[in-house]
Amino acid sequence: MILNKLIGQEKIWERLVTAYENDHIAGAYLFHGPSGVGKEGTALRFSGLVNCKAEGSALCGECSSCAKFNTLQHPNLTLIVPLPKDRVINKKDPPAKALKDETITALAELIAAKAKDPYEKIRLPRSNTILINSVREVREKIYLKAMEPGRKMVVIFDADLLMTGDGSSANALLKILEEPPQETSFILTTDFPERLVETIGSRCQQVFFPPIQTETVAKHLQESLDKPTEEAKLIAHLAQGNTRMAKHLAKQDLEEVQNQLLSLVKWLTQPSEENWRSFTHHAASTYRTNPQELNFHFQLLSYWFRDAQLIQKMNGDAHIILEGMEKSLRNFVKSFPAGDFASIVKELETCSSSLSRNYSLNLVITNLLFDIQESLQGVAG
Ligand SMILES: [Zn+2]
Repeated sequence: MILNKLIGQEKIWERLVTAYENDHIAGAYLFHGPSGVGKEGTALRFSGLVNCKAEGSALCGECSSCAKFNTLQHPNLTLIVPLPKDRVINKKDPPAKALKDETITALAELIAAKAKDPYEKIRLPRSNTILINSVREVREKIYLKAMEPGRKMVVIFDADLLMTGDGSSANALLKILEEPPQETSFILTTDFPERLVETIGSRCQQVFFPPIQTETVAKHLQESLDKPTEEAKLIAHLAQGNTRMAKHLAKQDLEEVQNQLLSLVKWLTQPSEENWRSFTHHAASTYRTNPQELNFHFQLLSYWFRDAQLIQKMNGDAHIILEGMEKSLRNFVKSFPAGDFASIVKELETCSSSLSRNYSLNLVITNLLFDIQESLQGVAG
């Protein structure tokens, strides 16, 4: 079954199954933890489980309910994701009215991809908020009698984006959580639980998803993508427990990925009008076409500077992430003897988190470029 393609997190799954067996399903859950560790997939799989018509507590994958969950099209499943606002809409309009036809098509394609691979991300370009209309629409639905037996499941991905703007989407959701509807559960997932208001967090049962073990990710790459053992190990190590990133890297030529990273480092650290323009242009165009890809690039850049810091501090005996790039890293460290690489790691984090919150890309990137220049000159510089 499609939703069985999740790896690791056995303890969490057992805990959820036990709650289901004992009829102790919470009215609201908050699944949090780093990206690519199966939070969204587990939310969908659990929604499938509590609606499965088979006897016992296994997810059969074959009943009429499971068949609908296999394509993520079940009347008891409401999936809420961040959406762009192509058009201005009224209070009572369904969220789809805010979308252009091509956005609706793109969304359907992303949902279909998610049904095939639970680590795929449903994230449309310019979608930096969960529209209040999405929350209102769910409110209309959940107090009505269910169309099918089972439990209504409302799954909200990237729930921190309920907080965008004046936080009205979060407030609307809070009102629902204060008067929990019958036979309904909410599952919120987020990489950034600290961004959600306390009042929502405290109404949810919190479940932390840790990074997946490197060996588990490597085994998965070998089995599902037919990667040779050594390459699978290398990619799993690079992905640092993030299965989504591992799968993304596995689809690419690793040498190309390394060359791309070297270009990004060059553009960032050798200030010239041309280099800075190249970096800004790359960031802007990647962000527009594939925000997830830009995330990976920032992740790789932070590995680079984290490794640079390790080499600078430990010299001979550093356990670096980018093992295959050690020579380039050592040369890089030599050219910036006073470089404060730890600060750069933080600056990159701030930058990618600002981008996920819809700050102006040009402004954020310009700040990053200046901050990095300062940090390369060192703390005293
Ligand atoms: Zn079933």
